[in-house]
Amino acid sequence: MREVALDPARCPVCGVRNECGLVEGRGDCWCGRVEVAADVLEALSTSGLGGVACLCRACLSGEVPSPCVRMCEVDAKGEACVACSRTLDEIRRWSRGSAGERAAILLDLRRRQAADAEAEVEHAPTVQGVAGRGR
Ligand SMILES: [Zn+2]
Repeated sequence: MREVALDPARCPVCGVRNECGLVEGRGDCWCGRVEVAADVLEALSTSGLGGVACLCRACLSGEVPSPCVRMCEVDAKGEACVACSRTLDEIRRWSRGSAGERAAILLDLRRRQAADAEAEVEHAPTVQGVAGRGR
C-alpha cells in the first residue's frame, strides 16, 4: 500500500485545519477535552492513517462533513462524481452511513486522490476526469 503524505496541521479525514495544539507548539491539544466518536477513530486506525495527524473538532465528534460541493456531475464512465470524487456507491452509502462509515469513505477518497496526484505527474496527458473542472 502506498503511503499518503499527510499534513499534521490538517484533519486526515476532511482536510480542514485541525488546530492541533501540539502542532501549533502549545504542548496540549483541545482534543484531550472533547467527547470522541469511537467509530471515527476506528475507521482512522483501520485506514492506516491514524497517528499522523489529529482529527478536526467536527470529525472527532462524529459530525463528519460531506465532501459534496453541490456541483454534482457524474464522470464520463458514470462511476463517480466529478466534483467530490466519491463513487455513486459511496454517495449512496454516505446518506445512510454512520460517522465511522463516512470517515472511512473520506479516508478512502484521500488515498485515491493522493494516488491520482502521483499518476498525474507521471502521465499527465492521459488522466481521466480532468474535463469538467473549472466551469
Ligand atoms: Zn475533519
